Amino acid sequence: MNEIAKIVSQIIDLQDILIVGHIMPDGDDISSVASLTLSLKQLGKNCFGSIDYKIPDYYKVFAGVNEIRSYEELTDFTPQLIIVLDSSSPDRVGRFEPMLSNHRTIVIDHHATNTLFGDINWVDTSYAATAQMVYTLNKVLGITYDSELATTNLMGMATDSGFFRFSNTDERLFKDAAELVRFGAKPYFIATTILENKRPEQMKLYCTMINHMILEDSLVYSWLSYEDYLENNCVEDDSTGFVSEMRALKDVEVAILFTEFPKNEIHVSFRSKNWFDVSRVASILGGGGHSRAAGCSFKDAELEDVMKEVVSLTKDFLQGGVK
Ligand code: AMP
Ligand code: MN
Ligand code: MN
Repeated sequence: MNEIAKIVSQIIDLQDILIVGHIMPDGDDISSVASLTLSLKQLGKNCFGSIDYKIPDYYKVFAGVNEIRSYEELTDFTPQLIIVLDSSSPDRVGRFEPMLSNHRTIVIDHHATNTLFGDINWVDTSYAATAQMVYTLNKVLGITYDSELATTNLMGMATDSGFFRFSNTDERLFKDAAELVRFGAKPYFIATTILENKRPEQMKLYCTMINHMILEDSLVYSWLSYEDYLENNCVEDDSTGFVSEMRALKDVEVAILFTEFPKNEIHVSFRSKNWFDVSRVASILGGGGHSRAAGCSFKDAELEDVMKEVVSLTKDFLQGGVK
């Protein structure tokens, strides 16, 4: 039996199902959790979706997102099955992590750095988004798509492919996206909600990032300190997508953005353009991701120290021509 067939059989057999996404959730994660939860409810399952992290408000217009529960709301729920989505390692699920070792766990993910921590692991890096894997699974499960579910599901495929621009954009992604559009998904609504919904304060924060930018050969990097966020009346989510804009620079191969929020908690976002595998650097630093988009996080750290360490390690790899 292949992994999809095994997953289908578990879903059919079991009634109480918890669907979990990752901390610092992105569009793909939120889309995947919301879409699969709506779908399994359609099958009559006693099913809850949860993410142990704040979900940015602008996602709440997508069907199913408002019903994603917090960790606290589910402490009394005893699932027979946990499905972990878009998470490359068990620490990505926040406080749900200890539950994984004593519950039947299915992992559905598209990260090359996945540690295969489930009882069943459907990990396939050829998918542009976990939301696309959810769509593939839903077709086997015979889920009926209305316009709302189709839009929620398409949102993850759009965001994780940079709206069909990144190197993971292929024929199958367009085909799956087209099927969802036929079911009533609204690409223009997704694009305007995610991309054209910025507060003026975010634009000012963006200027701060551009002002801090340092360009050294094919590497560009910048930072936003906790003070920068406070001065601009912003929070961490407000800089989502900024790093990709630095990659737009001519002749740049690698872009890195260091964000400190709150004080002494630093997230590092890596993007590359043509050949450099940023997930290798991120993995060495305790994070993970994809070859063209990866990240890692540091706690109790000084922004300057993290920047020095990460920039120097990246340069070693870049200068060595290591893919
Ligand atoms: P970001 O730069 O935060 O947008 O993340 C880019 C990619 O790297 C996404 O696919 C994330 O899932 C992955 N990623 C980011 N942070 C981490 C982390 N701390 N551990 C593992 N993967 C990460
Ligand atoms: Mn994700
Ligand atoms: Mn993803």
